[in-house]
Amino acid sequence: MIKELMLINGEWVEAESNDKIEVINPAYGKVFAIVPKAHKEDAEKAINAANKAFEKWSSLSPFKRGAYLRKASEVVFKNLDEIAKLMTQEQGKPFKEAVGEVEKGAKILKYYAEEGERIYGRIIANEEEDIESRVIYQPIGVAAAISPWNYPIELLAWKIGGALASGCTVVAKLPSETPLSPLAFIRCVQEAGVPAGVVNALTGSGSEIGPVLFNSKIVKKVAFTGSTETGKVVLSGCVDTLKKVSLELGGSLPMVVCKDCNLDVAVAGAVRRSFRNMGQICIAINRIYVDELVYEDFLKKFVEQTKKLTIGDGLKEDCDLGPMCTIGGIETTKKHIEDAVSKGAKIAFGGKKPAGEKYNEGYFFEPTILRDVNHNMLVMQEETFGPVVGVMPFKTIEEAIKLANDTVYGLAAIIFTENLSLANYLSKKIQAGNVAINNVDAGVINAPYGGWKDSGFGHEHGPEGLYEYLLIKHVRVRYL
Ligand code: NAD
Repeated sequence: MIKELMLINGEWVEAESNDKIEVINPAYGKVFAIVPKAHKEDAEKAINAANKAFEKWSSLSPFKRGAYLRKASEVVFKNLDEIAKLMTQEQGKPFKEAVGEVEKGAKILKYYAEEGERIYGRIIANEEEDIESRVIYQPIGVAAAISPWNYPIELLAWKIGGALASGCTVVAKLPSETPLSPLAFIRCVQEAGVPAGVVNALTGSGSEIGPVLFNSKIVKKVAFTGSTETGKVVLSGCVDTLKKVSLELGGSLPMVVCKDCNLDVAVAGAVRRSFRNMGQICIAINRIYVDELVYEDFLKKFVEQTKKLTIGDGLKEDCDLGPMCTIGGIETTKKHIEDAVSKGAKIAFGGKKPAGEKYNEGYFFEPTILRDVNHNMLVMQEETFGPVVGVMPFKTIEEAIKLANDTVYGLAAIIFTENLSLANYLSKKIQAGNVAINNVDAGVINAPYGGWKDSGFGHEHGPEGLYEYLLIKHVRVRYL
């Protein structure tokens, strides 16, 4: 049994109550680790530690903070395999995917080390010659970082990177399903010499720790990634203390496949983005709209390629997909499939637990393609967050746009066409914060990433991800 502690004021500690959370390996449905379960008193200690550390950390030059972050990035790189192993055990994603994520976490720290050195102000001319206006940026203060389990390190690294580079200190509330790999990541940050209290990490219930963070006058910013439902709770929790809030929330990502596109490339993208991480990605493809002229061709190839995906315990075998992270995820996936089938959809592939003894205990499910779906079905309206995708034909581009925009979400969209004018038109008409054309990776670290509509507001990635932690000050100077 693995036992891990949480970090408060530079010390690895149990919860004051000594309460614990059990961590399950979803490939077997069995507990394999325990971590502390923090309560109010632990959260308050972490907030006070972050507050105490803020003055010194925020006074360092961005170059000095950057040096810590670069060092932390190196330490993460040195521990890649060990951290990735924990991630596969707690989250289920195959080991090679976990290694990729830990690597990304290390790169994010390095990117923000550099971006922090590029926080530029502005000088603005005034009417009188002896007066000028300066715009400077200053760190907001203690930031709370709340992140989910699907990308336990990447989503935390965006927050820690942006916050630390801008001079803020952090209280991170880690996901209860996957606390181990983020704790190991934070250990690396600590090993890089980041002073006590600059980063604190709590493991515990969100609905208990959340309000302590929201009601605290010390915490000045909440960076939240999670479901739209919880995002609304977070936002309303921050009203009384008028905190700056950024919300990276759920999505229902449309893919539009036009008749002129390279169908093989589109199919390869659809397989990867619909089923990678068992569809537990905020920008997983949930809905595919295909020009009716290539609908059957697309589906045939999509099914052929999906059949090739291998499923297993990603620590023991080299597979494409692992189990889902939670049993609740399987239930939602099944519910959406049953709903679609009852309303006329057909299962083109998948739809059940894979056959075989090795799948008996774990949270395994086949990647599932539903064809001939419509917008009365849950799969086309709600976020499944599972390995299921609905496919339907469209006749005109205007119809495709209408369907793509017909959900409450607006996180990202994918378009496949070789017609540049059409790509440009679609990318403007589709209501989403991120649009990928002829590729399926809508996010890169140095460009802003954020949602529209019920997918939230605020940004991570890029300089925008840094300005979320900075306050603007206008200084008007007369030179005497
Ligand atoms: P969730 O909303 O249930 O939980 C997210 C985090 O919030 C967890 O750490 C949880 O403990 C905490 N939490 C829960 N209740 C809380 C409360 N009342 N106050 C404060 N914190 C609370 O989401 P999840 O199931 O862990 O993650 C899946 C969701 O995250 C999906 O909807 C997915 O689309 C979304 N997501 C969005 C992005 C993005 O960048 N937009 C990225 C990844 C995941």
